[in-house]
Amino acid sequence: MERTVVRCAEGHLFSTATFPLQNLGPGRIGPGRLIRCPLCARLRSSVPADLGTLTGEQIQLALRREAVEFLA
Ligand SMILES: [Zn+2]
Repeated sequence: MERTVVRCAEGHLFSTATFPLQNLGPGRIGPGRLIRCPLCARLRSSVPADLGTLTGEQIQLALRREAVEFLA
């Protein structure tokens, strides 16, 4: 299953399988979605991370931190 690397409002990187990418076309990065960040342990407004700005290590770490819950 493909997962999306996202960044929470606090700058934490993690991943989710359920981010609704279909709503985020080029040039239309929205205000983010509420996802329970595994590092904040609370709901955070999160946006897809730009993989081009991340190192391979950052991406691997994010993929190991999977958001458990997806809301709204
Ligand atoms: Zn966080």
